[in-house]
Amino acid sequence: MGMKAFTFDGSHTWLLQVPMMIFPFELYFALMNRLNHAFSPHAVNNIMYELGRKHGWNGTEIYFKKFNIRPQVSDFSFFMEQTKMLGYGNLSILDLKSDHKQFRLRHDSTFAKLVLKNHGKQPYSVDSFTLGLATGAGGLILDLRDPVGLETTCVAKGDLNCEYLVSEGSQAYTQEKENATFPVDLLENYTLKQLVNSFPHRSGDRNYALFSKLQQRSLNSLKLTDEGIKIGPLTGMTTPMIVICYLVELLRKEFGLAKTNGLLYEVGKDEGIRSLDYLRSVGLEINRVEGVKIIPELLSFYGFGNGFAIQASTNRIIIRLFDNSFAITRSSIFGPSKEVDDYFIAGFLAGGYSKLFGKGFEFKETACARENNKQCLFEGSPSA
Ligand SMILES: [Zn+2]
Repeated sequence: MGMKAFTFDGSHTWLLQVPMMIFPFELYFALMNRLNHAFSPHAVNNIMYELGRKHGWNGTEIYFKKFNIRPQVSDFSFFMEQTKMLGYGNLSILDLKSDHKQFRLRHDSTFAKLVLKNHGKQPYSVDSFTLGLATGAGGLILDLRDPVGLETTCVAKGDLNCEYLVSEGSQAYTQEKENATFPVDLLENYTLKQLVNSFPHRSGDRNYALFSKLQQRSLNSLKLTDEGIKIGPLTGMTTPMIVICYLVELLRKEFGLAKTNGLLYEVGKDEGIRSLDYLRSVGLEINRVEGVKIIPELLSFYGFGNGFAIQASTNRIIIRLFDNSFAITRSSIFGPSKEVDDYFIAGFLAGGYSKLFGKGFEFKETACARENNKQCLFEGSPSA
C-alpha cells in the first residue's frame, strides 16, 4: 500500500485500481457537524464506525489477496500504520494482550487535531470512522470474533491523545452499542468484489485551465504530508468511492431521502464556497472568466470525474460531468435508477458559482450517470 500505489489520472484518484475520494478535513467536519445537529450524534457515530469496520476488513483482505499472504500477528503493526498513508494519521500499538483477543491503539489523528485547532473542543469523539477501520482490520488480522472498538479518549474532546480499545464482543461493549438503530443489513452486501470492480471507466487526459495554472507551481500532484493527503488545493483523508456510496445509502435509509439529499446539498454548497478559498490558500488568484471553467474542474480533485461548463452566463449555467465515479459506482452496486443522485455536487456548483459571481445560484441535476453510466448534467440559475 502507501503512496506508490496511488495514482491521480487527471480526473480520478486510484489506490490499487480502486477509485478514491479525497475528503477534505473541513468538508468532513462540516458533514459530521450538520448530521449531528440534524439527527442523533449517536446514530451518526454508529454509521461511521460500522462503515469503517466493514471497510477495514475488506480493505485489508484485498491486500492479502493481491499479495497472496495470510494474516499474521506480526503484520499487525504494519497494517495499523497504513492509516497514515491514507491521511488519517498514524496508529501505533500501546498494548496487545498475550492471547491476542484485545488491543489498545494510539491514534495520532490529523483530523482531531485540526478540529480542535479550527473549531475548539467538541462534545463527542470525532474519529469513529478510523476507529471502525482499526477494529475491522485488526479483527481480521487477529482473527477476533465480532470485534468491538471504543474511542476511550479523543484530542478533539480536549484529551491528551486519541486512544482506542478493541476487544472481542463482550457484554460491556455490546451495551454501549445497544441503542443503535442502524440499517446494518445494507453493509452485509458490501463485498470485496464490489470494492475491486466498482468502477470500470477511466478518463483520458484533457486540458484543464486549473491544472495548467497549478502545474506552473508544481501543485497538482498527490502528496502525503504530516497534515494529511494533499492534492492540488485540497488537504484531507482519502477513502474509496464505494465507502462514500454506502455512506450516502446508509444516511438515506436511516434519516430519509429528502432530509439527507437536502443536507448533502447544503454541505456541498458550503464546500463550493470554501473551494475558492482553497485555491487562494495555494497562492492562486482566480478571475471570473477562469473561475467559470475552474469550478467544475475542481470536482476532479475530489475524484468525481471530468467537469465542464458548457454554458455560463450570469443567469444560466450548464455543467456536464463525465465519468462521475460516485454515480457510476452507485449504479454498479445498487443498480441503475432514474433518480438523480448527486446532491453534494449540485450544492458544490451552487456554492462555487455563488461565491464567484457574488450572488446566489441554485443548481439542479437534470440527468444523471446513475441512469445512463455516461454523464451528469447540472443546470444553475440565480436564486430568487
Ligand atoms: Zn449524477
